[in-house]
Amino acid sequence: MQDFGEGKKIGLLGGTFDPVHNGHLAVAAHVLKALALDAVWFIPASVPPHKPGHEDGRQITAFSHRIAMLQRAVQPSPLYVVSDLEAKRSAPSYSIDTIRILRKQIGSKTDLYFIIGVDAFLEIDTWKRFQELPGLANFVVLSRPGYPPEKAEELISREFPGYLHGPTRETWSCASSGKAFILLHMEPVPVSSTAIRRRVKNGEAIDELVPETVADYIREQGLYV
Ligand code: ATP
Repeated sequence: MQDFGEGKKIGLLGGTFDPVHNGHLAVAAHVLKALALDAVWFIPASVPPHKPGHEDGRQITAFSHRIAMLQRAVQPSPLYVVSDLEAKRSAPSYSIDTIRILRKQIGSKTDLYFIIGVDAFLEIDTWKRFQELPGLANFVVLSRPGYPPEKAEELISREFPGYLHGPTRETWSCASSGKAFILLHMEPVPVSSTAIRRRVKNGEAIDELVPETVADYIREQGLYV
């Protein structure tokens, strides 16, 4: 077990990352700064239970490609870590299991912040044993255009009644677990992995949407064509 020490704060950003894009990196940078985190771990899912295939009908790209793109994307920052934890797991990978494993790896003294876009958060009530999740880590919910923050507040009130908001309604804390939901507003970064896959298929440029090293990798490997 690797203990990061008392008071350290680590953000966990899970996703499919097919491919990683500037929106993911903006989320990580925003939360790192806003909550003064010590690091953000990117955790690609091997076979996400909610995405047996993409909604655009495509198969999910091999884990090895998705992790290679992540490694290239985070390379400039020592504060970003790419975790291959999910590769070693038997599919499917559920967040509850991932957080439990990470808690063991990271140790009990480190504060964990599970980072999630509000679009994904609004589906949390379909996740395995979702009611146990906020007891294991703080939840940081990022705004995304088209998803009103009130929807996230409604969901917290309905499904997690032990959590009460402070004056700004941005932080919802639970006295017994000592954990919180933190609703963060972020300037929208209008990019999604779906849009990137579509652009590559249509022969359109993606250089504004992903780091240069990721665009190069996609070209070299002939992904998404
Ligand atoms: P897809 O288009 O394939 O559904 P995606 O772009 O939403 O993918 P994921 O890997 O599924 O990317 O997302 C991982 C996490 O990052 C999710 O919590 C998602 O809400 C969040 N996220 C992705 N893109 C953005 C963005 N542009 N702004 C804010 N959050 C984002």
